[in-house]
Amino acid sequence: MAQLTDDCFAFSGPLLPIDEVERILSERVAPVEEIETVPLGQAYGRVMARNVVAPISLPPFDNSAVDGYAVRAADLAGKDETRLTVAGRVTAGRTTRGALAPGSAIRIFTGAPMPAGADTVFMQEDVRVEGESVLVPAGLAVGANRRLAGEDIAAGAVVLPAGRRLAAQHVALAAAVGLTALPVRRRIRVAVLSTGDEIVEPGSQRRGAALFDANRVLLAGLIAGLGAEVTDCGIVVDDPLAIERAIAAAAAKHDLVVTSGGVSTGEADHVRAAVEKIGRLVFWRVAVKPGRPVAMGVIGAGTAFVGLPGNPVAVFVTFARVVRPLIARLAGAELTPLVPLPVRATFPHRKKKGRREYVRVALRRASDGIIEAVRHPQEGAGVITSLTETDGLVELMEDTTKIEPGASVGFLSYAALVT
Ligand code: AMP
Ligand code: MG
Repeated sequence: MAQLTDDCFAFSGPLLPIDEVERILSERVAPVEEIETVPLGQAYGRVMARNVVAPISLPPFDNSAVDGYAVRAADLAGKDETRLTVAGRVTAGRTTRGALAPGSAIRIFTGAPMPAGADTVFMQEDVRVEGESVLVPAGLAVGANRRLAGEDIAAGAVVLPAGRRLAAQHVALAAAVGLTALPVRRRIRVAVLSTGDEIVEPGSQRRGAALFDANRVLLAGLIAGLGAEVTDCGIVVDDPLAIERAIAAAAAKHDLVVTSGGVSTGEADHVRAAVEKIGRLVFWRVAVKPGRPVAMGVIGAGTAFVGLPGNPVAVFVTFARVVRPLIARLAGAELTPLVPLPVRATFPHRKKKGRREYVRVALRRASDGIIEAVRHPQEGAGVITSLTETDGLVELMEDTTKIEPGASVGFLSYAALVT
């Protein structure tokens, strides 16, 4: 597992901007190399290792998009209704013999192949049937309600590009062109562990000033959502040697180790020193709020390491901005850019220049129809309900120092942030 070279990061500044984080990750982290072929039934969530082309066109043949009557546009009288003889019938899965004779129509159903000679289909709702004849109205464009062979995808075109992480619709496309298996990269293996003397497992006895561990399940869910394999490495106490050993052991068997807590500069914060001892620290402060202390490093032969802060909201935000692009990179997946949607802030905000800030907000529609972002009343980075009672984050860029109510701000939904 040598996804990272030891000297691949060089950063000397005090706080690394988010854009620099992404640039470093995309330029210097290499994807896992192993490729496997998986049947379509197991392809969901996997990352394409190579471009795959469509063996057939889709649709494979011209067909009708509606239930109705297939006709020759050339038969239609300019301004008037046209009377045509119904010469046959074709349902989905069947074919017609011979071409459509002038002056006639074929009763056709959705998905049935267009009879030779027919180029246009009237919807059954738009026609009148009189005995063996059908009366079709004027004004329908040539080619209406006809689906052309290859209009979806042409045989030989790239149907799934390398780097695509397969959502259900991508697997559906592969199935529609008749593919049965796809070449994908192996799943990346990610170890998750929590640090802190105060952190205990839910279900165990909680004594004194202990807290139940929220971050491990948070991280496990977020990482699994990105298609990686997660190993739960438990909770480690705030002891330098214990932390070193736990990280080293996890690094030996994984492509990435993610920890939470103990990464700041307190006397009980040992994660950064541990990484410096058993590997190399790349950066440990990022210009982001909430978050800031985020240690990124390389352990042993090239296992990536990210030490996130302890507060769950900071974990969420720094996961989205640091771990998400790193996982995409390791997995060989194209990174879907985060595109903030413009919404109207209902709150004033002051911030420091030079760092990216994220404000937890719920969306609502104002009386004038505009979508508004309402800030959560509790801003603490430890307030987990501020994540469960909101819809996403307003992103305030480095240059911004203040916003006033009514300002247009960029909104990132939680769903977008973690996919
Ligand atoms: P630290 O960065 O270790 O100083 O932790 C910052 C804050 O996050 C402290 O209040 C910790 O108790 C809290 N915290 C750390 N780890 C966890 C965890 N796994 N689950 C919930 N809270 C945590
Ligand atoms: Mg701690």
